[in-house]
Parts: sequence; structure tokens; C-alpha cells
Amino acid sequence: MSRFIRGFSYNAIMKKEKVLIIGAGLCGLYTAYLLQDDFDVEIIEARERIGGRVHNIAGHDMGPSWIWGHQREILKLIQTLGLVVFEQYTQGLALYDVPDGVQTFSPPQAAKSYRIEGGISALLEAIKEKLHCTIHLGEQVLSISQTKELEVETNKKIYTVSRVISTLPPRLAVKSIVYTPALETAVKNTLENIPTWMGYSAKCVIEYPNAFWREEGLSGFTFSHVGPLSEIHDASTKAKAALFGFVQSNVESANIEKKVLEQLVRLYGVQASEPTHIHFVDWKEEVYTSTEADKKPLSSHPNYGFDLTHFEGKMFFSGTESAMSDGGYLEGALVAALHASEKIKRETENDTNHR
Ligand SMILES: Cc1cc2nc3c(=O)[nH]c(=O)nc-3n(C[C@H](O)[C@H](O)[C@H](O)COP(=O)(O)OP(=O)(O)OC[C@H]3O[C@@H](n4cnc5c(N)ncnc54)[C@H](O)[C@@H]3O)c2cc1C
Repeated sequence: MSRFIRGFSYNAIMKKEKVLIIGAGLCGLYTAYLLQDDFDVEIIEARERIGGRVHNIAGHDMGPSWIWGHQREILKLIQTLGLVVFEQYTQGLALYDVPDGVQTFSPPQAAKSYRIEGGISALLEAIKEKLHCTIHLGEQVLSISQTKELEVETNKKIYTVSRVISTLPPRLAVKSIVYTPALETAVKNTLENIPTWMGYSAKCVIEYPNAFWREEGLSGFTFSHVGPLSEIHDASTKAKAALFGFVQSNVESANIEKKVLEQLVRLYGVQASEPTHIHFVDWKEEVYTSTEADKKPLSSHPNYGFDLTHFEGKMFFSGTESAMSDGGYLEGALVAALHASEKIKRETENDTNHR
């Protein structure tokens, strides 16, 4: 948008439009990064931390861990921000855990997955470092109404802005925010029917003094029909040895640590009985991620991707689930951010040309 009118910078003489981004997850932060030079951007985040589904506890990824080689936007961004990736540890045999007993097997070749040194949260912190806009933490958007502009009400104050970008999981955008005028029925129904990716999941990280399974020729990967962990992987970092697992959806969270250790001892032997720490996040219970409808596990990856707006196009519904490629994934959050920011720039340019 930076143009020159008779020697003056366009940006310098025009007041920048106010854009409010709801959510400081990967999509919200990257959207702000892409828009901040051309617009007056602020981010509202309900949690007391940035990241959304990206969440690090004691150096461990409690949300996403992996990126894949075909994901161009995230790999490009990682490089631009000077971060380092390493390959997911898969050397050695895997375990197959069935009611009859535990078997070892050599998993078939699959697409390599990669992790980020410092965890996925290192990517979000690096984007945040580049931002010169304000992020309001601990502030939940409650309602949005259209007068001459858009009035966004949070639990703390009212913001008057020209445009709003929601990066909330679609169901939450319908459930937790009141719109005046109300959403069109077709928009509401579409958003309500889009599941939050991994909204049904619960993740457990079990930290050990050393990666003893590696010494026994095991990769740390287990596929289990017994549980409570259905899928286990090596989650070690440079600093800490760890395994992580997804908890089966029918398992109660109460005493989860005890149940997990019993399974790990059965699979990996007595050394597994002495972890240094166990961390657990039940994403089903995270009210700024999941709705009641998200508690039901998904049998496959949904067909994500949509282009929906409200308030005569002044509000976009973005976030990873809106992405036309890699929807649901971290890559999708970036694809969605690129789409929303390009669209908003194009529309503002058009509005200016018609003035
Ligand atoms: C356990 C788990 C494992 C995963 N594994 C992988 C993986 O290995 N690889 C991969 O690519 N992806 C994975 N994902 C998916 C990945 O985490 C998401 O694609 C990505 O983080 C979504 O980013 P987002 O910004 O679109 O949404 P979010 O991160 O959900 O951001 C939305 C933000 O909006 C905020 N918010 C909600 N309501 C309000 C409100 N009313 N007012 C203000 N703010 C609000 C939330 O707090 C949140 O910060 C995983 C997810 C989980 C939970």
C-alpha cells in the first residue's frame, strides 16, 4: 500500500485503518506481522499467553510438535526467522500394543516429520519479537456490532475499528461471540459444522532422566489398542529425554498419570516407572479452543477451507480451519493469514481508489 502522491508518502498522509485481530495463535500473530506496516493493528487474546493451540510447558510441546517437508510457508518462515529444525526421532523398532500382548515391528517408510529447536512456541515468540503492535492478553471478545464502524466489546473495553479478523476455531466464533446484526443463517451453519482440529485431543508428555528406549533399539513409537495412550512418540529435546502420547478419547482424566505409567511400564519395562515429570493438557476442556461439539473424536481429517465474511465484508473468519490448503495444521494457519491479509489489502486499496 505504500504509494507516493506528489512526493509525499501515502502512508504518511493517510490515517491508517484500524484492524482488530481476535486471537494470538499462529494465525493471529502472523496476520498482524503481515498487516502491521499498512494498518493500525491490535490483537485481542482471551488467554493470559500467546500461542493458542501452540503451548509449551517446561520445554515440551503440549500442542503441535511436527511440520512436514511439503509445507512451504512454515519452512520459509522458520528460515527467515533464523530457527532450526531437526528430524523426528524414528530410529529402531516400534511397538504394537494389543490385548494379547506387545509386539515389535518395523514401521513402513512415511513422510519425514520435523520439529523446531526450542519447540513450536519458539516460532511464535520469534514472530512476536517482530511485532510492533499491541497484544492485549487476558481479554475475551464478547460481542461485535456494526454501527458506522465495528464496535468490538471485550470483558475490559470497547474498541471501534474499521475491520475485524477472527482467527478463532469456527465453532467458537459462533458460540462465544454475539453479532449485531446476527450472522446470516448460511454463514452460521457453515461455521458451526466445522470441527476444531485436535479439539478432542489430550496430550501427555512423560519426561525421563535419559532416553532408555533408544538404548534398547526402540524408536519410542507405539501404536496401542489398549491405552490409555493410543499413540506414543519420542519427544526428546536437546535438554530433556521424553515420550509423548495422545490419550484415548474414552479415558477419564482422573489419575491419568498413574494409568499412563502403568502402560509405559508394560511397554518399556521398569525404567519407565520413574519419570522426572509428567505434563498433561486436555484440549477438550480448553474453553478457548474447543466447544461441546468438538469433544467427539474425528475419524479422519476434515475437508477444511472456506471464505466467509460478515458485516458487509468488514469482518473475515480466518484461522487454520479456513485455509484452502493444509487446513487444521500450523501451515494452514499461515496460509489463512496470507489469504486474509492479501484480501484486506486489496479491498482497502479498492476503497481508496473509489473515494
Ligand atoms: C494436541 C495437538 C496436537 C497438534 N499437532 C499438530 C502437529 O503436529 N502439526 C500441525 O501442523 N498442527 C498440529 N496441531 C494443530 C495446530 O495446533 C493448529 O493448526 C494451529 O495451532 C492453529 O492456529 P490458529 O491460530 O489458527 O488457532 P488457535 O491456535 O486456536 O488460535 C486461536 C486463538 O484465539 C483465542 N481466543 C479464543 N476465543 C477468544 C475470544 N473470544 N476472544 C479473544 N481471543 C480468543 C485463543 O485463546 C487462541 O489463542 C495440533 C493441535 C493440538 C491441540
